[in-house]
Amino acid sequence: MYDVTIRGAGIFGLSIAWECVKRGAKVQIIDPHGVGAGASGGIVGALAPHVPENWNAKKELQFQSLIKAERFWNEVEENAQMTSGYMRTGRLQPIADEHALMLAKVRNCNAKELWKGLASFEVVSDAPTWAPPSPTGHWIYDSLSAHIHPYTACHALKRALETQGVTFHAESEAQGMTLWATGVHDLLRISQAFERPVGNGVKGQAALFDFDKAGCAQIFADSLHFVPHKDGSLAVGSTSERDYIDPVATDDVLLSVINRAIAVFPELAYAKILKTWAGVRPRAKSRAPVLGRHPLDDSAYIANGGFKIGFGIAPAVATIMADFMLEGKETIPDDFSVDSCLL
Ligand SMILES: Cc1cc2nc3c(=O)[nH]c(=O)nc-3n(C[C@H](O)[C@H](O)[C@H](O)COP(=O)(O)OP(=O)(O)OC[C@H]3O[C@@H](n4cnc5c(N)ncnc54)[C@H](O)[C@@H]3O)c2cc1C
Repeated sequence: MYDVTIRGAGIFGLSIAWECVKRGAKVQIIDPHGVGAGASGGIVGALAPHVPENWNAKKELQFQSLIKAERFWNEVEENAQMTSGYMRTGRLQPIADEHALMLAKVRNCNAKELWKGLASFEVVSDAPTWAPPSPTGHWIYDSLSAHIHPYTACHALKRALETQGVTFHAESEAQGMTLWATGVHDLLRISQAFERPVGNGVKGQAALFDFDKAGCAQIFADSLHFVPHKDGSLAVGSTSERDYIDPVATDDVLLSVINRAIAVFPELAYAKILKTWAGVRPRAKSRAPVLGRHPLDDSAYIANGGFKIGFGIAPAVATIMADFMLEGKETIPDDFSVDSCLL
């Protein structure tokens, strides 16, 4: 019946399913907890690049993915007949001091080459109406950054997949090729089997404000992402916690994020908090994505290690995995191979 069975209905599993379906494969998805039940069911959704310098495989993959993202999410939305929240409105970052200003100017030149004229990284001194304070009076504006709404985007993918005949199950017998995209669960399972840590979970907490800045550039200030969603909400995140007891509880650590957000934009003190959310990012030992044959079963596949950029790299990861699984084409960068990431 099925050519491909995907375990895990997070952004990796869903995106790979979408790419497989587009190539004609029959796909089923198994997830006992449902769509977006793990790290992917959140509220932030920044699709933002690394700085254009010290270029490496991860930065190139992320760049390619961000460029692909617009078409990817448009196709999903057309099929699903619902929004994913995708908007490419760029990103604004305050420049703290003269040293940072000098670096930004160097990066502006780097971006011209590394971003191949497809996006820009500029120093601007005329701030748009919604901007964080900047000590130097200058900001970085990059036109590559976009955002989606993670939970909504996962459900748009589910609906798009269903229009193409993909079935979703809490449990079912695996058929055809099996791909494990089960996030932190698999990193822990593999660690247990190898009797040493090959990856772990890093908890993150975020808050969603009723604060309508739809259409504005997202902001990165005081190490916080401010993501103005299409629906008039503003996501602010995130914490980064290696030690935690409850993976999905929000607590005082988030309160400090909220206070820092209010220090950047004092108006937020009067905005209603619509939602708080916590999840656990899958982080491989190498901090890189882990793509290829599964280390516990050579007949199966793995896509894991999205860590802090899982949504940003999902379109590229989907292409790489569909090439590998369906066409036997190996385009997995060495740094993301299972051996270099886990073993
Ligand atoms: C607070 C926070 C903010 C973030 N912000 C951003 C951001 O702004 N931009 C960005 O790009 N990324 C961001 N991330 C990271 C991103 O969310 C993750 O990289 C991504 O969601 C990982 O996706 P995944 O599909 O690999 O794993 P998950 O989303 O965790 O999905 C794994 C799925 O596997 C299922 N599962 C578990 N065991 C089994 C099993 N045995 N069989 C079948 N299914 C199973 C689970 O139920 C789950 O649904 C953020 C993460 C957090 C926590």
